[in-house]
Amino acid sequence: MAKKVRVRFAPSPTGPLHMGGVRTALYNYLFAKKHGGDFLLRIEDTDQKRFVEGAEEYIIEALKWCGISPNEGRGIGGDLGPYKQSERKELYANYSEYLIKNNNAYYAFDTAEELDALRNEYEANKKVFTYNAEVRGKLNNSLALSQEEVMNKIEAGIPYVIRFKMPEDELLDLTDLIRGDMKVNTSALDDKILFKSDGMPTYHLANIVDDHLMEISHVIRGEEWLPSMALHIMLYKAFGWDIPEFAHLPLLLKPTGKGKLSKRDGDKMGFPVFPLEWKTEESTSIGYREEGYFSEAFINMLAFLGWNPGTEKELYTLDELVNDFSLEKVSKSGARFDHDKAKWFNQQWMQLKSDEEIAELFQVELQEKGIVEEGQYVKNIVSLVKERAVFVKDIWEQSSFFFEAPTEYDAKVIKKRWKGEMNQHIADIKAVLEGLESFTRDSAHGAVTALIQEKELNMGQIMNSLRLCMVGAGKGPDLFQIIDMVGKEETLARLQKGVDTIVR
Ligand code: GLU
Repeated sequence: MAKKVRVRFAPSPTGPLHMGGVRTALYNYLFAKKHGGDFLLRIEDTDQKRFVEGAEEYIIEALKWCGISPNEGRGIGGDLGPYKQSERKELYANYSEYLIKNNNAYYAFDTAEELDALRNEYEANKKVFTYNAEVRGKLNNSLALSQEEVMNKIEAGIPYVIRFKMPEDELLDLTDLIRGDMKVNTSALDDKILFKSDGMPTYHLANIVDDHLMEISHVIRGEEWLPSMALHIMLYKAFGWDIPEFAHLPLLLKPTGKGKLSKRDGDKMGFPVFPLEWKTEESTSIGYREEGYFSEAFINMLAFLGWNPGTEKELYTLDELVNDFSLEKVSKSGARFDHDKAKWFNQQWMQLKSDEEIAELFQVELQEKGIVEEGQYVKNIVSLVKERAVFVKDIWEQSSFFFEAPTEYDAKVIKKRWKGEMNQHIADIKAVLEGLESFTRDSAHGAVTALIQEKELNMGQIMNSLRLCMVGAGKGPDLFQIIDMVGKEETLARLQKGVDTIVR
């Protein structure tokens, strides 16, 4: 029987989660769900120097907002926890000791100063110092020193690290589910530190030990980890463990030019790179949520940064993504972020959502402006204007005239439309409307057109002037719909105000 699919998202809590990280989590989630597997969240905090307060909570909240819910892991629980590496600290030492016993790792006592001196010496000769098979026999480590010397140093409390003893000249055949086959010669790799002098494992050791203990079947992660794949495979081999499958996801690229999408690009061009807002004492970084993106649109957009179904379909719910997702369709090359496309997804999702849902969100905006309106009225307005809005916050701009009379009138429209005896014509229209007993869209429309015909007025000029009085500009949905919705009293008041204040 094939092994159960178990994947993990393993972020380090070093700051807010970048949208690239969210995409990694998303693809892991989709893959797990697609194959009836498990999706785990593991916090990798072995690098205590880079730990940032609040980052773990941020990660958990961001995933929650996106609807990417792990079914095991930090914040959820499970049988193979704890799911935070600092809480598993005691466990890793045994594994590095095991590697030492089997001659796959060694103690290294080289001080930072010694290593710096070596680096400088190499640099002076235009070479790069690498701690590897070529030099390790001559350095300050348990491969070069006698057993007694090593024991003495350890007993004397001299700090040491544990390094992996990378085999020499072994040709590795690596397979990545996205990038295909690669060959790596182990001689090109260095003896990475597995265990640090502060008693903590490095990322490499903790990651492999945990993936093994947590029974991970597929490692799906960002391309920046591709260079570590050979070391990780060597570690699995050294432990004699089953090796999971690997899939390295393409980078997210800047909107233009070369390189990875960074926070700086977002700051410069005014788009978020983080799912949620992130505040520090020095600065605030905007988030998709706070900018007014729907989480569905954000996820939909992210899914398409590096994957596509190979069809015309672009709008996807999370469940539909689960259905259609496959690692084979993930591209090898970097995915360019496009701010306009992100907004397009939001605008499309605005149309997919019900008027009720949008109206509820819009009510919050209205309340902030001190406007109290009845639900059905707001829903009708939303249904009329939402097609023109990218964000809920845009709805106000498209519909403020439904709630309050214009305070200004567009000068261009006045110049173009408010001609001749317009103040008189509008006053006449007002009188006709005032006389209507049943004031509806159709009766108002009928009365106004009849008057225009009777007096042989210019239809375009009148209608646009009327709109000017109602809206303050030349925009908006159907004029008589507006008139009907704001009602008789308000319509008459706006026409009077236009007659009194608009001058050409
Ligand atoms: N802690 C690593 C990171 O922050 C995880 C890399 C991996 O998935 O192996 O990206």
